[in-house]
Amino acid sequence: MSTLEIKGLVASVAGKQILNGIDLVVRSGEVHAVMGPNGAGKSTLSAVIMGKPGYEVHAGEVLLDGVDLLALPAWQRAQAGLHLVMQYPTEVPGVGLNDMLTEAFKARGRNTDTLAQEVAAEAERINFPVALLDRSLNVDLSGGEKKRNETLQLALLAPKFAILDELDSGLDIDALRDCARRVEDATNENQLGVLAITHYNRLLEELHPDHVHILVKGRIVASGGPELADQLEADGYEAFTGGEPEGAVQAARPSSLDELFAL
Ligand code: ADP
Ligand code: MG
Repeated sequence: MSTLEIKGLVASVAGKQILNGIDLVVRSGEVHAVMGPNGAGKSTLSAVIMGKPGYEVHAGEVLLDGVDLLALPAWQRAQAGLHLVMQYPTEVPGVGLNDMLTEAFKARGRNTDTLAQEVAAEAERINFPVALLDRSLNVDLSGGEKKRNETLQLALLAPKFAILDELDSGLDIDALRDCARRVEDATNENQLGVLAITHYNRLLEELHPDHVHILVKGRIVASGGPELADQLEADGYEAFTGGEPEGAVQAARPSSLDELFAL
């Protein structure tokens, strides 16, 4: 059993504070959905947890089984068991999927003798065309093919925790179902813990969340079970911001004295 703990995370990008104190705990096998409107800070949260350069952390901790991830560069966070599926997968001309996976396996001390067969089997499982396996990473792939390819990597690397930043964006219904089901299978077969960031309920109909959190203006303003996503679908984000001006969300009380005095 592993634990990913996010405690009081405050972070900014380009001099603008985006995350205003995020607390979340994800355990092995659990699926947590983080839902929020455009600009709420969802991608920023995923970038800060994974260690994308350019973000400044002002307060808080991110711990994986007690290890301070914020002190590590992104590649060491990946080795520690964290994996990010990006909202917009990066194209890497000149680097093939097999090259990338071979290096990643070696870095994890894993045997690569049967990697080619594992990749082929996984491609079939997720309906990723085998003919595309020799392409450079994500180059000239459609939106759906890119996300299938990313999900294939996730399945093979078998991290402890995955952050899915809008896995559903740019996907048609079939690709969405295949990707979401593969992730769901990993939560059952490998006890993968998931932080699934999404706008819409659609993804959650396939990837069944245990917990749903609503992120508005860099704060989690509500947490609950799957019913919260249904409520959101029916009432919209207005219901969670009360239609009131910035910072006036009832559940988003200052969580520290410093914050209180800063108001
Ligand atoms: P979401 O994923 O919830 O739509 P983001 O985390 O992408 O939101 O963005 C949150 C806010 O941070 C937005 O106002 C966005 O313009 C701003 N932001 C994100 N990245 C940068 C950046 N690199 N430079 C400046 N502002 C940024
Ligand atoms: Mg985003």
